[in-house]
Amino acid sequence: MTKQASVLSEARTADATLRARAAGVVPGGMWGHLNAARLPEGYPQFFASAEGCRVRDVDGREYIDFMCSWGPVLLGHRHPEVEAAVRAQAALGDCMNGPGEVMVELAEDFVAMVPHADWAMFQKNGADATTSCVTIARAASGKRKVLVARGSYHGALPWCSPSVAGVTTEDRAHLLHFEYNDVTSLRAAVDAAGDDLAAILVTAFRHDMARDLELPTAEFAAAAREAADAGGAALIIDEVRAGLRLDIRGSWEGLGVRPDLCAWSKAIANGHALAAVTGSDAFRDAAAKVFVTGSFWCGTVAMAAARATLRVAREIDVPAHLHAMGLLLREGMAALADRHGIAIRQSGPPQMPLILFEDDPDFRKGRAFCSAALRHGAFFHPQHNMFLSAAHGPADIDAALDAAAHGFRSVAELGALRG
Ligand SMILES: *Cc1c(COP(=O)(O)O)cnc(C)c1O
Repeated sequence: MTKQASVLSEARTADATLRARAAGVVPGGMWGHLNAARLPEGYPQFFASAEGCRVRDVDGREYIDFMCSWGPVLLGHRHPEVEAAVRAQAALGDCMNGPGEVMVELAEDFVAMVPHADWAMFQKNGADATTSCVTIARAASGKRKVLVARGSYHGALPWCSPSVAGVTTEDRAHLLHFEYNDVTSLRAAVDAAGDDLAAILVTAFRHDMARDLELPTAEFAAAAREAADAGGAALIIDEVRAGLRLDIRGSWEGLGVRPDLCAWSKAIANGHALAAVTGSDAFRDAAAKVFVTGSFWCGTVAMAAARATLRVAREIDVPAHLHAMGLLLREGMAALADRHGIAIRQSGPPQMPLILFEDDPDFRKGRAFCSAALRHGAFFHPQHNMFLSAAHGPADIDAALDAAAHGFRSVAELGALRG
């Protein structure tokens, strides 16, 4: 085939056609983390359908899904109980002049499930929730400084976006940084805030892109709680990514540390657009005083989806299932890496794993691994933590490991080419 002919036949895939059309009418073809330039070679940009732990792209290729929509899918795509609740609520009304009974029921569900929570409020996106937490903490204390871990992701608004394009220094004027899990740097940031400390904002565990994942140490969690108390500030846990996957009561519950305010989103409505802030009584008045709202924050359908999601999560110990499946994946990956003589590092809680290759500063191995595994039907990510869902079973993990074997083979070939 001539070069031009191969370009043409490539361009005839539905995905490539959509990319070309998008490039004409959507800046850059796609925004944010889903921009095609950030994907490994061969990854589809556009999807046609999803069911359980499988997604299907617009060219009809099906993959065992280890991204779960980048977090929102907890029970599996189109979970029957959640979708039944969605249909029932949609038949009555979604976007009305105010919320429905379901909002009060859902707030009651959160208060019953989450030990630190005396109340709950609802939004749409994770960044709505993290921003609301910060606003509430400032309103409660009358103070301004917010401590955040360097490199932690809290959303894509100007105060927290990982990019600086279009962002002013004033947008971030009152942020101070510390290193996650580093008590000395946390205390230094607390000192720098002086008597102006409003909040310490911290993700449930360290899940920054392209570096090993880290669970919080007990010492770090206790120090964060202590510093917030000593400064009359709020301890805010950003559960947007980890929420419901590690512990449905809150990810730090096992460490014996409870936040004052907590931001939730992603998994809470199993793929439907919803976020939540939960808080303790000490922050109730401030939460009532701030003006936070959105045109779609009262939508009842996503709330009905969340009620069903929480009900299922309570019934079938979702974190334990994800943990078991994540361990199967981890052990299988370790065995495959060993067999191919390739050194990998696996980090994070098994429910949200990350696999990095040793001696891979430019992620060439990671991307080659993912591209080959994708061709054999498993959708992994080379740099971002992945996600298990309740729909993954042992047979799916086995099938994904078969695909991963092709990935390791192609990494071995890279090494052979170089050596
Ligand atoms: C995704 C994410 C957010 C932002 O959520 P959006 O719904 O994208 O606004 C905030 N914090 C963490 C930890 C996240 O993973």
